Amino acid sequence: MDVSTRIVTSEIGTITYSLVRKRVRNVNLRVRSNGQVVVSASPRVSISFIDNFVASKAPGLLEKTRKTALSKMKMIPINFTDGEPVTCFGEKLELRIVSSDKDDVNVEDGYLIIYQRDINDIGKSKRLFERFVREQVKLATSRAVQKYLPLFESISCPAPSSFSVRKMTTRWGTCHTKSKRITFSLMLFRTPQFLIEYVVAHELTHLIVPNHSKTFYDVLGKVMPDCIERRSALRGY
Ligand SMILES: [Zn+2]
Repeated sequence: MDVSTRIVTSEIGTITYSLVRKRVRNVNLRVRSNGQVVVSASPRVSISFIDNFVASKAPGLLEKTRKTALSKMKMIPINFTDGEPVTCFGEKLELRIVSSDKDDVNVEDGYLIIYQRDINDIGKSKRLFERFVREQVKLATSRAVQKYLPLFESISCPAPSSFSVRKMTTRWGTCHTKSKRITFSLMLFRTPQFLIEYVVAHELTHLIVPNHSKTFYDVLGKVMPDCIERRSALRGY
């Protein structure tokens, strides 16, 4: 079975899909529960026909993948009960609330541990957790910026004016092309570092190409050759 990843750009947006070549009669399209678009087609069907077919389904597909992405992101709220699962940079951890004189949050051996004096003070747990998330996302994004900024400078990318993190539930990041301000979502706390790198590189690319055209992915591909694979993987979060 021959599988490849393709991008089609329609007037209303860009769709990435996995193309599986196999013996089927027609062109079949389905959206997996993680939002991934999979098309299977006979080897005889031309690639341009398949791309056009996918592009013609763009309105429904974009709506579906967006909804899936949103429902996934809503999984972050936490009740702050012992044993609750938490995803931290792609790792599945178990939440523990431990009584301690000193407030702290730490990741240790598969546990995300919140240390606080009164373990029943949920408001306190939430504040400590949110502060931890903010710090960690700041650290992780700045690590990715340090890695990728020199690569963007080498392709004459305009310098960003600032980086910040904030609560955003519908986007992983934004780039204000006029002010050159880049903002990252605290939701990145859930995703592994290589996907944080994707979001950082994606937003930096917007300083060169504001939209999501083919040119955009050509530029992004220069500094991150596997950007399409990473983009698909991000859908799983
Ligand atoms: Zn974008």
